[in-house]
Amino acid sequence: MNIIVCIKQVPGTSNVKVDPVTGVLIRDGVQSKMNPYDLYALETGLQLKEKSNGKVTVISMGPPAALAVLKEAIYMGADEGILISDRKFGGADVLATAYTISQAINTIDDVDLILTGKQTTDGDTGQVGPETAEFLNLPHFGYVTNVEIKNDKLQFISNLETKVMKANITLPCLLCIEGEINTPRLPSYKRKVKFGSCENQIKIMSFEDMKDQNENNYGLKGSATQVEKIFQPKKTTDRLVLQGTKEQMAKDLLNILRERKFI
Ligand SMILES: Cc1cc2nc3c(=O)[nH]c(=O)nc-3n(C[C@H](O)[C@H](O)[C@H](O)COP(=O)(O)OP(=O)(O)OC[C@H]3O[C@@H](n4cnc5c(N)ncnc54)[C@H](O)[C@@H]3O)c2cc1C
Repeated sequence: MNIIVCIKQVPGTSNVKVDPVTGVLIRDGVQSKMNPYDLYALETGLQLKEKSNGKVTVISMGPPAALAVLKEAIYMGADEGILISDRKFGGADVLATAYTISQAINTIDDVDLILTGKQTTDGDTGQVGPETAEFLNLPHFGYVTNVEIKNDKLQFISNLETKVMKANITLPCLLCIEGEINTPRLPSYKRKVKFGSCENQIKIMSFEDMKDQNENNYGLKGSATQVEKIFQPKKTTDRLVLQGTKEQMAKDLLNILRERKFI
């Protein structure tokens, strides 16, 4: 089985500052890590690879620093990595990100399965997976908590909150993986020593490598949305302590919630 896993590098802390003038995230000096949900997608891919004697290619779109997450994935067990990186891809919104990732996947032969995380911890939209599948014209499903190989199909379980669905999906397809599906393995020290900087395992793809050579479909130009302003919400420290009997406090709370139109 030829498996692609999409992984994104995200800030390793929730304490990311925003430049008050430009409104852009200050990423310099901020520790980065692999998006946590992508670890589960990767572990799912690695387990399916082991069962099917297949191959796992990890793909990340981002600046050169994102090489770090591709290397980590290779130390965990992925066979190859692709870094999609070009200034022309900068400023991409979800639409342009998904389109660029789909273009990169289009250059790979005989893909059976694409796995993504459920969402990221920075952009957090959960839309890149489904949109990538739509660009590739592939069947897709989200909230996946289990995947098994069944002949030429995959059987998966999806947790839709109000119901749990067990279904089959034909290959090739794309699945967005939930957090509780497995326990991701740690990077292997042996593989770290064996592959080192991974220069033979990781390929960089730029705009020139894409089939679609229309620059208007990538980066800021290819983005349907534009960020007008990014700001950190003001911390409010207003506190109101209710006093009295349980019944009185419950009544007072109800009145306050009504007054403030929360209910
Ligand atoms: C106008 C605009 C400009 C922006 N400019 C920038 C910018 O300059 N720099 C910047 O960093 N962000 C920028 N962003 C944010 C960027 O668009 C999103 O981070 C990106 O589209 C991914 O969306 P997400 O994080 O919500 O992913 P989600 O949809 O939450 O991710 C779901 C899954 O998709 C996969 N995935 C998502 N992103 C990637 C990726 N890059 N590579 C591989 N797999 C991935 C992962 O498996 C992930 O678990 C911009 C957004 C807008 C609207």
